[in-house]
Amino acid sequence: MTEIPLHPAALPAAPSRIALLDMTLPEMEAFVRALGLPAYRARQIYDWIYKRFAADFAEMSDLPLALRTQLQAAAIIDPLRVATQVVSSAGDTLKVLFSLPDGQSIEAVLMLYDNRRTLCISSQAGCAMGCTFCATAQGGLARNLTSGEIIAQVLYFARYLANPAALPPTEVARPATVSNIVLMGMGEPLHNYSNVWAALRRLTDANAFGLGARHITLSTVGLVPQIDKMAAEDLQIGLAVSLHAPNDTLRTGLVPINRGYPVNELLDAVRRYIEQTHRRVTFEYALMRGINDTPALAEELAGKLRGLLCHVNLIPLNPIPDSPYQPSTSYDAENFASILREAGISTTIRLRRGIEINAGCGQLRRASKIST
Ligand code: SAH
Repeated sequence: MTEIPLHPAALPAAPSRIALLDMTLPEMEAFVRALGLPAYRARQIYDWIYKRFAADFAEMSDLPLALRTQLQAAAIIDPLRVATQVVSSAGDTLKVLFSLPDGQSIEAVLMLYDNRRTLCISSQAGCAMGCTFCATAQGGLARNLTSGEIIAQVLYFARYLANPAALPPTEVARPATVSNIVLMGMGEPLHNYSNVWAALRRLTDANAFGLGARHITLSTVGLVPQIDKMAAEDLQIGLAVSLHAPNDTLRTGLVPINRGYPVNELLDAVRRYIEQTHRRVTFEYALMRGINDTPALAEELAGKLRGLLCHVNLIPLNPIPDSPYQPSTSYDAENFASILREAGISTTIRLRRGIEINAGCGQLRRASKIST
């Protein structure tokens, strides 16, 4: 995959204060030593940030006041500002549009289920992949997120769940913390590989956020070399692949990077991934009326996936403005699902959470740009 150059104007502004969320524990130890402090202070700060979700040095009550003031001048914890926040009428979906220090914006969505608190986060400001049915693709890529900007989205919602009084009331009982994370927000996570994996290491590190890797899923458009790289990682992060079509003619029209990584090469990479990791892979398939939802295509898909340790998530398309695509009817969706199931392929039709609050795929950012 060739790196897509960033427009110079879109590069992040040089921060005047150092970003603590970008640091590993050894890096933070080096940072506190450079301030003339003993290394154990780093562990204290790390605990405040990752275990107690402090967003401000003022909260760090076991640090001397002079040290808190010194840190305040030298470093920043939370790089995100809330631009817009929307709660669904059922109170079970919360979507936040964050602005970043250089004026870029990104979205994250928290979905509360009975037994799970799933957070969908962004890996890039914008996206370079150009999928023709996706709202994020319409604006192109602005830049990669730093590892700290990725982690900050998680800590924001961890803080929200820990302190219900601070935010709008919801009707459902609020569970204690983020239990699952999906990298299915804005951006292509495997196009920002090193920052995404640096974030994943800290999110799973028991010294930091400490979420089990199996509770995290990374969704990719299908970048073959990076899928192979991911297969060799020691963390057990789940893989989801956005397939959307069983053949190259159709898929290239929906997912242009298919030209570089055609369906069969992608499925070969998934096969290698499964052999290496023994983990089940999820295929995402956004059902678009009259485009990719016919019984013939379901048969073709079943043929391609037969024998793979996989699950298919069918998602009725979330329609976006200026796009010809519409969601499939529920009849066609059910029919498509039955054909896959009859072929022995585990399949679900995923509920479209948060549609009423523009919680699908780059929509809140787009709406806010239109209204400003
Ligand atoms: N770039 C990654 C992750 C971000 S998108 C990827 O492609 O997987 C997360 C999922 O939402 C992908 O499966 C993507 O294809 C899907 N998606 C994008 N726009 C959509 C829309 N309008 N309706 C339904 N799903 C959509």
